[in-house]
Amino acid sequence: MTEYFYPQSMGRIILLAMEEVLGREGIRSILRLSSLDSYLDKSGSFSDRHPAARTDRTFSFGTVSRLMESLERAYGPQGGRGTALRAGRACFQYGLREYGLQLGVTEMAYRLLPFPTKLRVGAHAFADLFNKQTDQRVRVEDKGDKLYWHIERCPVCWERHTSDPACHLAVGLLQESLYWISGGRLFNVEEVTCVACGDDACSIVIDPTPVS
Ligand SMILES: [Zn+2]
Repeated sequence: MTEYFYPQSMGRIILLAMEEVLGREGIRSILRLSSLDSYLDKSGSFSDRHPAARTDRTFSFGTVSRLMESLERAYGPQGGRGTALRAGRACFQYGLREYGLQLGVTEMAYRLLPFPTKLRVGAHAFADLFNKQTDQRVRVEDKGDKLYWHIERCPVCWERHTSDPACHLAVGLLQESLYWISGGRLFNVEEVTCVACGDDACSIVIDPTPVS
């Protein structure tokens, strides 16, 4: 079966975000549970100084989904979901540091756009980043009152089989992106279909009307 990858820089963003949410001990046990000992230093602590270069596309989709599965094994279904959502939200800040300039979202011209335009321009730029720099495939669909983020090849639930949508990391990332571009508002973001449940794509619906 074909293997798909993220660049190491994105893998590191996920691991740093997980460390922020789980703490030093938490990330250490998740890495062990996921057989990712190469990210542990000699003392057994998480180290982001992995030998692979940041641009190497060697962080496999299987690794991403194994990390998510380990969260559920370690914290239970509810706790796993909660920690994955929080880790997804934490990914945004690290991602902004790494990719903000390329995305163009830190430019004044972007920041001055009205929110609905900002949302659509931002969603397409964000999808392009995944489509060009990773093996993940994203299609943005604008249905007027809702914006759909279709992940057509998804690392988060890669080769998993679950009874409910499982891509909480992606939902958290989108929630935080919306929070940031709207200047601190909250939105309904929900995964409605998921490849792990037998659907064709992992589809996340964004309601562009803030709830607060
Ligand atoms: Zn998925």
